[in-house]
Amino acid sequence: MSAAKFEQIGQALREGVRFAVLGHVRPDGDALGSQLALGLSLKQLGKDVRIWNEEGMLEKYSFLPNANLLTKPPAEPEDVDVAIALDTAIQNRLGNSLPAVRSAKVWINIDHHPSNPGYGDLVYIDPKSPATGQILFELIKSEKLPIDAAIAENLYVAISTDTGSFQYPNTTARTFEIAAELVRAGVDVGRVSQLTYENYPRRRVELLRDLLGTMRFDANDRVASFSLSLATAKRLGVLPEDNEGLIDHLRAIRGVIVAVFFEELADGKVRVSMRSKSEKVNVCAICEKFGGGGHVLAAGARVRGSLAEVERKILEEVRDVVGRNS
Ligand code: 5GP
Ligand code: MN
Repeated sequence: MSAAKFEQIGQALREGVRFAVLGHVRPDGDALGSQLALGLSLKQLGKDVRIWNEEGMLEKYSFLPNANLLTKPPAEPEDVDVAIALDTAIQNRLGNSLPAVRSAKVWINIDHHPSNPGYGDLVYIDPKSPATGQILFELIKSEKLPIDAAIAENLYVAISTDTGSFQYPNTTARTFEIAAELVRAGVDVGRVSQLTYENYPRRRVELLRDLLGTMRFDANDRVASFSLSLATAKRLGVLPEDNEGLIDHLRAIRGVIVAVFFEELADGKVRVSMRSKSEKVNVCAICEKFGGGGHVLAAGARVRGSLAEVERKILEEVRDVVGRNS
């Protein structure tokens, strides 16, 4: 089944001329690495390629090979034949990349979020895959698309970040096989790991210090949460990208089943980020109740209300689910 779907997507990639490779807002390593990897492979096929993300390239991922090719979308739409959404569970999460590709005749949707409804003409969703980067590697191999050291390094970062450095339960033997192939294709593991995990700006650690000050526990220490107000974010000068991974400090506590991170946004909403350590506690289902989505063990939502209100509502639901399932 997957080979036939890859074949259809491969054909569309070979036949198209003008491409836009897109990823979700508030991008992570999987979104940005996947976008660059597929964009570079298409370029090597001689295609006219745009690689757009609402936020452009993040400072912290600017070490990715050919990072400069990933830009913010233009204000005016451009003519493209094919728009490709990567790692994006719902089309709206493409943000302002969406209006820029209005003219696209074919939509390709490649993702690993179980909540992805399958929008688009050519759809490949594999919820078992730990990263969109892993699906792209399989596509590239299966369709004999170009791959070089730069593409390999982008895929490696995509997979490494979405598996929590090959630690999360969705990491399979296949993931390690792919990582090995990427290393053979030219990835310098030590260098890339250092740039990915040991290169944080000081303000990120100052943010962690503040967050730990707000840490609280619920449900007999099975739920841990912390929160970031707009005022604190401003005082510390943090960027949205500084948040990625901080929630892991809560998840790492023995006995904690659910970790929650609340972040007050400027638009009257609160961004809720959730992690679970038990398949029995599905945080995607909790977040879907509040208009969000994601995976069983990692999900999120944007909820209208003040920080205090949203904390109260969400923690009530989390306590309830944890109480019933553990
Ligand atoms: P994070 O907590 O790292 O922002 O997101 C964890 C997972 O939940 C990601 O797979 C992400 O796609 C999903 N997610 C985060 N926020 C939202 C949201 O507002 N809506 C939906 N549908 N998914 C989200
Ligand atoms: Mn992903």
